[in-house]
Amino acid sequence: MAENAQRVVVVTGGSRGIGRAICKALAALGTRVFFNYYSPANPEAEEAAAAETIELVKQAGSTAVGIWANVAVQKEVAAFFDKIMEDAGRIDVLVNNAGITRDGMMARLKESDWDAVLNVNLKGPFLCTQIAARIMAKQQGGRIINMASVVGAIGNIGQANYVASKAGLIGLTKTAAKEYASRNVTVNAVAPGFIATDMTAVLPEKVKEAMLASIPLGRAGQVEDVAGAVAFLASDAAAYMTGQVLHVSGGMFM
Ligand code: NAP
Repeated sequence: MAENAQRVVVVTGGSRGIGRAICKALAALGTRVFFNYYSPANPEAEEAAAAETIELVKQAGSTAVGIWANVAVQKEVAAFFDKIMEDAGRIDVLVNNAGITRDGMMARLKESDWDAVLNVNLKGPFLCTQIAARIMAKQQGGRIINMASVVGAIGNIGQANYVASKAGLIGLTKTAAKEYASRNVTVNAVAPGFIATDMTAVLPEKVKEAMLASIPLGRAGQVEDVAGAVAFLASDAAAYMTGQVLHVSGGMFM
């Protein structure tokens, strides 16, 4: 297959932030995009956000389909992939991007906040990988890219659940890389630092200032910085990389 020609890419959490930038970046390479989103709190706003991603992908010269599905629920994940296979018949790239935070100091962290974060950030990528890797193995090729975080490598105060999910995701990346290497399926992770999105916009000013002070490059990352790394890992140039964690953090972790 010519580089990225007619490739089918699946992005979880593509309605906003980093996921939307990934949809755009891969669309610009001529890739057909499927993404999911899930927002029970504000479905109308979420439909509008998904429609905007679809429009941006169109402007980038490709097509996108947005499907409502919760990555933490096996039945919904299975239905999401069934729909993609019905429409496209193959999957070349899976980007496990969907993620949430429910921050709090460990001493007061609620069990429900632990479960919610681990279910979306770690169980979600496991469920999606299990299905996509089976399809890719049959095709004798594919790329899986997991959205980890710099804090999965260095830890972070007030984020025990989130850090555990991202450190777990790095372990899942390495195990899946070993299990699927013989089928020419590569599995890598991208570990962003402090990126300007809805997720970080809600942080208290003091926390934002402390984060910025810890970045050697002296600025917050942009969603395009992360999407560029994902596009590289999805390209033929990264064919000989698997089980790796690519840090995109302005030097927060070296
Ligand atoms: P964001 O702006 O909050 O977007 C999150 C996306 O995930 C949305 O499209 C959201 O859809 C989707 N999502 C959330 N829960 C979902 C679920 N259960 N099922 C399906 N989709 C779901 O976040 P972001 O900043 O772009 O972050 C994207 C990824 O990068 C996350 O994995 C995050 O942990 C990671 N990351 C971010 C940063 C940063 O500084 N921003 C740093 C390191 C790593 P709805 O709106 O419909 O819920």
